[in-house]
Amino acid sequence: MYLIMSLNLLQRTLYVTRSKSISNLSCRGVHLLQNKAFINGKWVGAHTGETFDVTNPANEAVVGNVPDMYVKDACKAIDAAHSAFYNERWHNSTAKERSALLKKWFQLMETNRQEIAQIMTAESGKPMVESLGEVTYGNSFVEWFAEEARRIYGEIVPPPQANRQIMLTRHPVGVAGLITPWNFPHAMITRKAAAAIAAGCTVVIKPAEDTPLTALALTKLAEDAGFPEGVFNIITSSRKNAATIGELLCKSEKVAAISFTGSTEVGKLLYQQCAGGIKRIGLELGGNAPFIVFNSADIDKAVTGAMNSKFRNCGQTCVSANRFLIQDGIHDEFIAKLLEKVKALKIGDGSRDGVQIGPLINQAQIKKVSQFVDDAIEKGGKIIHGGQRLSKHGQLYYEPTIVTCLRDDMRLYNEEVFGPVISVIRFKTEEEALMIANGTQRGLAGYFYSNDLNQVFRVSKLLEAGMIGVNEGLISATEAAFGGIKESGIGREGSKHGIDDYVYIKYLCYGNLQ
Ligand code: ADP
Repeated sequence: MYLIMSLNLLQRTLYVTRSKSISNLSCRGVHLLQNKAFINGKWVGAHTGETFDVTNPANEAVVGNVPDMYVKDACKAIDAAHSAFYNERWHNSTAKERSALLKKWFQLMETNRQEIAQIMTAESGKPMVESLGEVTYGNSFVEWFAEEARRIYGEIVPPPQANRQIMLTRHPVGVAGLITPWNFPHAMITRKAAAAIAAGCTVVIKPAEDTPLTALALTKLAEDAGFPEGVFNIITSSRKNAATIGELLCKSEKVAAISFTGSTEVGKLLYQQCAGGIKRIGLELGGNAPFIVFNSADIDKAVTGAMNSKFRNCGQTCVSANRFLIQDGIHDEFIAKLLEKVKALKIGDGSRDGVQIGPLINQAQIKKVSQFVDDAIEKGGKIIHGGQRLSKHGQLYYEPTIVTCLRDDMRLYNEEVFGPVISVIRFKTEEEALMIANGTQRGLAGYFYSNDLNQVFRVSKLLEAGMIGVNEGLISATEAAFGGIKESGIGREGSKHGIDDYVYIKYLCYGNLQ
């Protein structure tokens, strides 16, 4: 009995010490916390010596600081990646060698799961349990592409003439510029970088200004894994320099491909910038996902799916359900059950045990969420729960919110809220639901719940989205192709298709064979 009590006390003490150290400036004891960028195998500062602070959205404490780099620094990273690509050691590397390096990186990330997650929670505000979930997800891309590296097959094609042989082979494009967002600070990097490296490319990564520390932690482990100098480069910058660095990556002749995950607005800009050099670009942009619950649905499963899809990462997920379309017959029952679950959500600092909803990432984000809800209220939206900032927890907390009676002139209807807000539209017929769901230029994810088999097949076919959850609210998987249609993006990440952005096909025609 006494022993158990002592152990509990010790655990509690360790927990308190750990949470203090995370929110402290230097995250003491967290050896993966870096304060430099990584170019050509060396940890470096900005050429000006400037840095910027990274803060914890839960309490605004400074977690660390990193170099505020400019175009001049980015040029060095591009040059390093370009030389490394043509360096014999990498250029002639075998798929097996690249696979082994990726496996090593994966193993190191697995060993350091807890520490990566702590850094992620400290800089993004994500609840610890979700950070650990993202580490599992992010790591899985490295494992997957370590395996896929050895399956980048070509084709031998039957020729139209007897004296010919036709061969199609696949080759790495060169340097890949990877620009990533803050909402998945780990997985958005590994999903791109592991695919590029598996293909034989070299990379220059520009992580989001809100979450560079997770990116640098992964970089430290990439260094330890032993990637040759210049293969893996990362440059950090504040928001003020992001546009010029992005433009350089898009316009440099030394960069062969861009992969971007972020806002549709920035994605469109990068697409234009890549046009001048006919540069390849992969874009994973915003969505406006419908979540449809039909009368035949299992309501409890639909409520669980809605909670998972909406409140993961405080709603700051591009595949989060944005508009909830609920059929007349089950509308009130669904809302009542949903309300119970929403009321039970535990809000607070993500490093505390049991917390499910953390803060939003920054001031711009909380302002946007508040404006969207206020706009809906002004136009006749009905608040069933929430609808306010939660200042008692800190400056960036917003109440989990349910708004019903959504109309098509509201911002919540037309734009991605990226926050903990469930916006409900009541509908009568399947045709009406599809018309509302598809009435947007976005087409990333969509969800629907139905137990009518004919309806399942009909709606799967007619719903305009790159990814669809049928009776499921959490659909991301390394093995599946992630990506959108319409203005939600170009290309696919993860799955065997994730390699395609980083290779080109070469056609070899062997003629006049005797
Ligand atoms: P959010 O608004 O959610 O921060 P963004 O699309 O603005 O999403 O940011 C995603 C990534 O794009 C971040 O790494 C950010 O620094 C970068 N970024 C922002 N503006 C530009 C730009 N004009 N050109 C290139 N990258 C940019």
